[in-house]
Amino acid sequence: MIFTKDSLAQRPADYPAKARAFVTEMTLEEKALLLSGDGWWHTHPIERLQIPALSISDGPHGLRKVEGAGLPTSVPATCFPTASALASSWDAKLIREVGVALAEECQAHDVQILLGPGVNMKRSPLAGRNFEYFSENPFLAGKMAAAYIQGVQSQGVGTSLKHYAANNQEFERMVTSSNLDERTLRELYLPAFEIAVKEAQPWSVMAAYNPVNHVYATENSLLMRDILRTQWGFEGFVVSDWGAVHDGVAGVNAGLSLEMPGSGDYLRNRIIEAVRAGRLSPAKLDEAVVSLLTVILKAKDLKRSGVAFDAGNHDALARRAAGESLVLLKNSGGLLPLDFRRIKAIALIGTFAKTPRYQGSGSSQVNPTRISTAYDELVKLVDKNTVVRYAAGYNEEGTTTEDLIEEARQQAKAAEVAVVFAGLPSSYESEGFDRSSLEMPAGHNQLIAGVCAAQPNVAVVLMNGSAVTMPWAEKVKAILEVWLGGQAGGGAIADVLTGRVNPSGKLAETFPVRLEDTPCFPDFPSRIKEANYGEGIFIGYRYYDARKIAPLFPFGFGLSYTTFAYSGLRIGGRANKETDSVTVEVKIKNTGPVAGQEVVQLYVHEQRPKVVRPEKELKAFTKVALQAGEERTVSFQLTNRDFAYYDTFRHDWVVNPGKFEILVGSSSQDLPLRQTIAVEVTEQDGAPLTRYSLLKDFENHPKGKAFYPQLAEAFGLGNPDEADIAVRAFLDDMPVYKVCAFSEGKFTDEMLKEILKQVQ
Ligand code: BGC
Repeated sequence: MIFTKDSLAQRPADYPAKARAFVTEMTLEEKALLLSGDGWWHTHPIERLQIPALSISDGPHGLRKVEGAGLPTSVPATCFPTASALASSWDAKLIREVGVALAEECQAHDVQILLGPGVNMKRSPLAGRNFEYFSENPFLAGKMAAAYIQGVQSQGVGTSLKHYAANNQEFERMVTSSNLDERTLRELYLPAFEIAVKEAQPWSVMAAYNPVNHVYATENSLLMRDILRTQWGFEGFVVSDWGAVHDGVAGVNAGLSLEMPGSGDYLRNRIIEAVRAGRLSPAKLDEAVVSLLTVILKAKDLKRSGVAFDAGNHDALARRAAGESLVLLKNSGGLLPLDFRRIKAIALIGTFAKTPRYQGSGSSQVNPTRISTAYDELVKLVDKNTVVRYAAGYNEEGTTTEDLIEEARQQAKAAEVAVVFAGLPSSYESEGFDRSSLEMPAGHNQLIAGVCAAQPNVAVVLMNGSAVTMPWAEKVKAILEVWLGGQAGGGAIADVLTGRVNPSGKLAETFPVRLEDTPCFPDFPSRIKEANYGEGIFIGYRYYDARKIAPLFPFGFGLSYTTFAYSGLRIGGRANKETDSVTVEVKIKNTGPVAGQEVVQLYVHEQRPKVVRPEKELKAFTKVALQAGEERTVSFQLTNRDFAYYDTFRHDWVVNPGKFEILVGSSSQDLPLRQTIAVEVTEQDGAPLTRYSLLKDFENHPKGKAFYPQLAEAFGLGNPDEADIAVRAFLDDMPVYKVCAFSEGKFTDEMLKEILKQVQ
């Protein structure tokens, strides 16, 4: 069969059928050829059938198109803010726009799959790739990822959602097993993938390096087949992370379609042998080929030639995105925005002012089309009569000297305000290794302390990919978290410092006071190749809530140059499996002097959960732009799942009927609006009763309770309400099958079986 554009155009949506038709024409050798890449960045073309190659390149925050292995310089491409920054915008629309721009660059460079976004959870703030991931929160990460994927794929370019799953540390990342219980996996480490798959259908998902509960992600049929395809309805193909294949035949058996980079005829021969020996069924082989071929055909059809992107426009978008992502963490006495009608001299201190840290190292490193620095951009924006002073303060590695600090103090003293640029040098965080400490380089901390001693008006501007400690937080007047703000971050900093842009970012991760306060201290990173997720469902703000540990800055927090007031919480509908909806409305008003944007956050708290649950869970958010004095009503729709926990008996999401509090406000710790609602379910939850259920489980079960008196009697408990408290506790905690022995055979196995039949 010959692939032609016309034949596809006639039935544009039927790529799976086309792929199936191709597969009937393919030889075993051709199928095996397709499942292992052609080098590092392509799939094999099959010329006989005119099946084209797929060109794949790294993202996520910019196109990194290279030839060959390693980290050679890539084609010039716009370097957008990294994921930890973008997520702080909490702005799905903006991220979608970034996705569209990324795809235009892919089209221009003949790339059909962009490797991203990364949605792994920030289990520890020390994880080396946190800068590449969105959040500690699965809901926020999932929504950001879905927007990104929708943006990229709207332009006919595919994405690869990574790294599936539970890939949360860099240390010994290829061999360390992430060991976690089913509920933790379902409630924390999978939902970001689940939301992205269900809402945006990425063309591919990248299976991670690590084993999950001792089964390699690339050989894990529970993850790749049962959950991803059967339960979530994934329609794309699964590609291995680069070098993550161990037993490629086991991989194909488990749902893997593409090994990257290619292994020549190494896997190919094994696949052929396995099929011939009956260790790999032709049906499973075809399934792998069809899912990959479906995307190849679609990509070929949607490929546009002669696309050029406007680097200037993309740079402007990168600046806007960075501006929306900056988080104003402190602003005592309204130091910011800087008022250049009054300020005659400003000191910009720190090497990062002129040589910014704007992206992370490793596979996501982009070769930017240009770079703006905060120093140059501020000089352009401040009043021409304002003197701009500068001191480097520290060297590239973050160390400093008495002389450098003294020079910085002199410059700060001679100005009315000092802005210190600090954070993490690139050697501190990267793909490939984890951080060992949350501290910034001593030289940066010493510099800030030194400048504070010389100048009362100090603002600190931070460039780092993940949370840091701030021993000087009390001493400075303002703190602006820039993250790794991409190539136009310098312009965005100037926009915010001068008030041209009102900051509206909110933390997508908690900033702890100290490492010892973090969820998996002291067990991160793992040792002996076992990462035991002992903290379970409590990471990020869930952990700080549960332990009542005050963070330095909480999840969801961020200031603005204006103020907002929340009022008018109204709740309608009920969370019932049939109607499936609760409508929540709130009013939000800009009560300050300038236009601004607020991220309205909604959390749900279950009052009397049956299982241990987080104090509250983020279930909805929206970003609203308001002129000074303007008020708007925003509304959210909650569904049954928003009240559910993952029940490990039923292996499903279950709502415990009862009271839930809806909390709305501006951060995880500032939730002024609260209202309790009763949530009903039509189908009762709870573990199904079995012979191993306890006697008391019958009393608490909607159908079982009718049999409780009879069973209690047979156990010799008599009237339970009059029984001795210790005797009752003893018998109530008995597995119910013991009733046969305790009744000396009077209560027979058959009688118990009959009861169990009736309570199902
Ligand atoms: C990284 C992936 C990346 C791939 C290709 C791997 O080492 O984990 O995120 O997409 O390399 O560069």
